Amino acid sequence: MEEKLPKVLDLVRSCTLCPRECEVNRIENELGVCQIGFNPVYSSANLHLGEEPPISGYQGSGTIFLTGCNLNCMFCQNYPISQLRNGNIITVKILATLMLDLQDRGAHNINFVTPTHQNAAIYQALIIAYKKGLEIPLVYNSGGYESLKMLKLWDGIIDIYMPDSKYGNDESALKISNIKEYTKHNRLALKEMQRQVGVLDIDDRGVARRGLLIRHLVLPGDLAGSREVFRFIAEEISKETYISLMSQYFPAYKATGHKLLHRRVKRLEYDEAVEALEGYGLGNGWIQPI
Ligand code: SF4
Repeated sequence: MEEKLPKVLDLVRSCTLCPRECEVNRIENELGVCQIGFNPVYSSANLHLGEEPPISGYQGSGTIFLTGCNLNCMFCQNYPISQLRNGNIITVKILATLMLDLQDRGAHNINFVTPTHQNAAIYQALIIAYKKGLEIPLVYNSGGYESLKMLKLWDGIIDIYMPDSKYGNDESALKISNIKEYTKHNRLALKEMQRQVGVLDIDDRGVARRGLLIRHLVLPGDLAGSREVFRFIAEEISKETYISLMSQYFPAYKATGHKLLHRRVKRLEYDEAVEALEGYGLGNGWIQPI
């Protein structure tokens, strides 16, 4: 890993860690849209049993919630961490220690939640953690708005990619999450992730070892463009792809007073999304009940 570190630092020196390409010098703590400097910032590190079954396993996923986000979703259910940036600034050495502690506590994996904008810090921390004996799989749990350059630097390091595919149209992505060209960047990222790790591989104990798991949250009024998301995955990734379809949307943060986002998803809307998923032959994964 160490030989690739200069390339990672280049990406953060004029920040292009994500497709927003703010080009600020994060090493000098200049701030871009994500508002996070050079050191890692985290909110919690715990064993978590509420992820998808092969990620949580039977002992829990070693979940590290990174503070801040490169998206600005109006409905974010984690908004105190992602948008209000509640958390603690730490060092890469401490981040490495958090990983090792989770491994000692029996975590099946280290699950980086919202890692994209803190990739450089995570990378440095992993170099330290590996020297001290970290050996469990790494889960990259992101909003799916990724820089291809950075993703390529994760090749051979990340074991399990668990990105969102949030939108099937750019209009919603811009209005709701304040991001441009989400579909282009998300699709390139999904293809690269699939190339690196392939279809999700689950062992005899029911625990994921490696592979791709895509999450999709259905939004009210089909604002997520669910059908188009499934079409792309089925036709251009693989029909074997594991998908976690989620019904849990509720209006949080800035969505509470929004004319389209103020309500939960209706049963009929969710049924249509399930029908589209099945219609494209995507049978692997989990459908959250409504
Ligand atoms: S990671 Fe943050 S600073 Fe870097 S390009 Fe993305 S939003 Fe901008």
